[in-house]
Amino acid sequence: MKSYLLAVLLCASPLLAAEKAQPVERTLSIIKPDAVASGHIGEIIEYFEHDGLKIAAAKLVRLTPEQARDFYAEHKGRPFYNDLVNYMTSGPVLIQVLEGEDAVARNRRIMGPTNPADAQEGTIRHDFGTDIGHNAVHGSDSLNSAKKEISFFFKDSEIVKH
Ligand code: ATP
Ligand code: MG
Repeated sequence: MKSYLLAVLLCASPLLAAEKAQPVERTLSIIKPDAVASGHIGEIIEYFEHDGLKIAAAKLVRLTPEQARDFYAEHKGRPFYNDLVNYMTSGPVLIQVLEGEDAVARNRRIMGPTNPADAQEGTIRHDFGTDIGHNAVHGSDSLNSAKKEISFFFKDSEIVKH
């Protein structure tokens, strides 16, 4: 009997451990200067919370040109790069780590496509964006980018556990 119980425990423990170790997915969100300046921080956060994303870290900052250039380095050389850097440094931004199931894809869905003109009603970019160069929010586009972008702005100790 004892050995039967032991066998059951040994078989079940890796499954229990795997379930316990399942990390919550995280993504980086930025509420951009246009949306901060027009007073829409609170409403935009409601879109995230209503769709099941939790805030795990947040800070309001004014990006330096160097930070904005580094953060959007993948777009260096594109015709809109300088405008993008000027826009992202034009006023304070709210930078957040959001977490939840499928956080990266979920956040992109809540935001809508890059160009507000293509976005459906009820998405943040439709409801608060002006045009492709002033589209209210940023969200990481993959798990890999999310990891890099979160560590670009936050130390581990600044991210809370819920
Ligand atoms: P973000 O990275 O800000 O979340 P995104 O991933 O939807 O946006 P990207 O292709 O990464 O889109 O472009 C980064 C940002 O550069 C866009 O959010 C937009 O503000 C700006 N941008 C992209 N394409 C254009 C364009 N054709 N003209 C003007 N600005 C653009
Ligand atoms: Mg992008």
